[in-house]
Amino acid sequence: MTAQIIDGKAISQAVRLEWKARADRLIARGITPGLAVIIVGSDPASRVYVANKVKACKDLGLYSVHVELPGDATEAELLEKVAQLNTDPGIHGILVQLPLPKHIDAHKVIEAINPDKDVDGFNEKNVGALVTGETPFPSCTPYGVMVMLEKTGIEIEGRHAVVVGRSNIVGKPMALLLLHKNATVTICTSKTVDLAKHTRDADILVAAVGRPEFIKKDMVKPGAVVIDVGINRTSEGKLVGDVDFANVKEVAGYITPVPGGVGPMTIAMLIANTVRAAERLSGMNDE
Ligand code: NDP
Repeated sequence: MTAQIIDGKAISQAVRLEWKARADRLIARGITPGLAVIIVGSDPASRVYVANKVKACKDLGLYSVHVELPGDATEAELLEKVAQLNTDPGIHGILVQLPLPKHIDAHKVIEAINPDKDVDGFNEKNVGALVTGETPFPSCTPYGVMVMLEKTGIEIEGRHAVVVGRSNIVGKPMALLLLHKNATVTICTSKTVDLAKHTRDADILVAAVGRPEFIKKDMVKPGAVVIDVGINRTSEGKLVGDVDFANVKEVAGYITPVPGGVGPMTIAMLIANTVRAAERLSGMNDE
């Protein structure tokens, strides 16, 4: 069997257009959804991610501000910038690109973002809302995975979902979103004993590990849905996921490629969260 490839590029394009239509409704009423992206320092990967986010906003007619602070900017300077954006009526979403330099307390900075503008969904208020029920801002990568599954017509309820990884950004929110859709969820970590035993039992397997081609063919149940969140560069400079795509696609039922899978969905969901923030802040939220 060869897996059906889930085309994240195509799905994300359709999702962007859906949210562009919602943005256009706001623009027609004089409100242009605005996103501010703050980057501290010059990490090359972060710069690429930020440039892609700003470009996606521009492409869809959203307003975007790109704030660049030097790598030696102080925590106080960053907090001051966040405070300014919190009260800026033209800005509906604020995103601080992680990781931050070590001398800055990332938790403190995330908590300083107005929860109504926290389009990354990392603020404790929004994380709490995700745990207890629904947050307006599910964190973009797991949110993108959920939309991918939904648009591909994959049944979640009653199925066993195994998430490998428990980061606050991907693994934990991913597990909660799957749980809310009535999957039976297992979370695996670096401390899990006999990982393959768990992954082989997955109907839906999400890899968010950060290790190149870590999930091998013999770790996957035939016919399983395999979602690869990983973005890794090999020593030859090639971009690969956390799944050994070439071999796993021979046993999986569905699989996402890297690049062109989860990555484009993350940006589409950032657009979604920004437009939703603008709808909520302007009282035009009819969800
Ligand atoms: P983290 O490094 O924060 O978390 C990795 C997780 O993997 C940890 O929970 C860790 O366990 C677990 N892990 C590590 N080794 C093993 C192992 N041998 N067996 C089982 N679990 C293991 O990474 P992120 O969650 O931030 O990112 C994961 C990947 O997703 C990265 O490749 C990243 O680049 C990518 N990414 C992609 C995005 C996209 O848009 N597509 C967005 C965000 C991330 P423990 O907690 O025990 O240490």
